[in-house]
Amino acid sequence: MEKEILNNSIDRSWIEKWNSPFTISGPCSAESEEQVIETAQRLDPAYVQVFRAGIWKPRTKPNNFEGVGKKGLQWLKNVKRKTGLMTATEIANSEHVKLALSFDIDVLWIGARSTSSPFIVQEIADSLEGKKDKVILVKNPIHPDIELWIGALERLFKKGVRKLGVIHRGFYTYQASKYRNQPNWNLLSKFRSFFPRIPVICDPSHICGNKEGIFSISKIAYHFKYDGLMIECHCNPDKAWSDSQQQITPEKLLELLKQLIDSSKSKESKSENNQIQKNLDSLRIFIDELDENIIALLAERMKISKQLGTLKKGSDVSILQPNRWVEIMNKSIKLGKNLGLSEELLKGVFKLLHKESIKIQNRM
Ligand code: PEP
Ligand code: MN
Repeated sequence: MEKEILNNSIDRSWIEKWNSPFTISGPCSAESEEQVIETAQRLDPAYVQVFRAGIWKPRTKPNNFEGVGKKGLQWLKNVKRKTGLMTATEIANSEHVKLALSFDIDVLWIGARSTSSPFIVQEIADSLEGKKDKVILVKNPIHPDIELWIGALERLFKKGVRKLGVIHRGFYTYQASKYRNQPNWNLLSKFRSFFPRIPVICDPSHICGNKEGIFSISKIAYHFKYDGLMIECHCNPDKAWSDSQQQITPEKLLELLKQLIDSSKSKESKSENNQIQKNLDSLRIFIDELDENIIALLAERMKISKQLGTLKKGSDVSILQPNRWVEIMNKSIKLGKNLGLSEELLKGVFKLLHKESIKIQNRM
């Protein structure tokens, strides 16, 4: 399908009627009616438009809390009646869709694990046929596979869904990282250049996996003019049954949102608000994330050097292996040159890496 057709047909009315930042908040999981109602009532409706709570929870391993199921839908309905907030939950099959619709849930989202499965997405799309008024948000798939994400949007679009949006919740990385899910801001910027009209909501909670990083990720989302935020919030975060490390209290959320609005206002009033400065800031965000990755890779490489050192120490293999060193250097220069890097850079970097690796092995 032409990306342009999808982009031009998106109905943005559901999000444009709110002032930014449009905010979805609530607990990772609904646990009890009291927890759901208390959290919702402590949210400030001037700052939060949609109350979220997971009813069916996709857990990595079995024997964890997998959500309260259907009974939680009535709790969400009660939240709407008591607070006037719209409600949102994750759906992962056609039965979930049917039940969520029967309890008048306003926003349905497809979770990262489900977006990764074309069969699941197709089943959900089929069950949404004719339900034109529902807002459907599609989280990015676990892995940074943009085409799979776009494919999910196309499946929904083909069944008539127009109130579509996406949630950026970051991508799985095997590398040690300060994030639970790496944001990959550069990739998102590419995705958004294909679909400038699709509302994008940032989910700093699942990107960070902790409370501390939520503000700085939200600030970046604000810088990139995302359409909204989804932040997990719990009346008693330390006691949460899932994702307890990353949930904040409703009061903390309000503080964070106010701070975010203030900091963007003060930025706007300064001269740094010109377009060149903004573009520079964007590129620096991409560079910072790449640097974090480079550092993580260096740490990983040096760990393996240590293992080499241990092995060599236990045998009579000498630490310095000139043939292997020449081989690494030649291979790396060739690879790097194919990617447009200069020989000077490659030689410099690999000489340093080699020197450090020898030092580490000698120390053992
Ligand atoms: C969630 O929002 O609670 C959730 C399970 O998210 P994700 O699909 O991004 O892991
Ligand atoms: Mn969660």
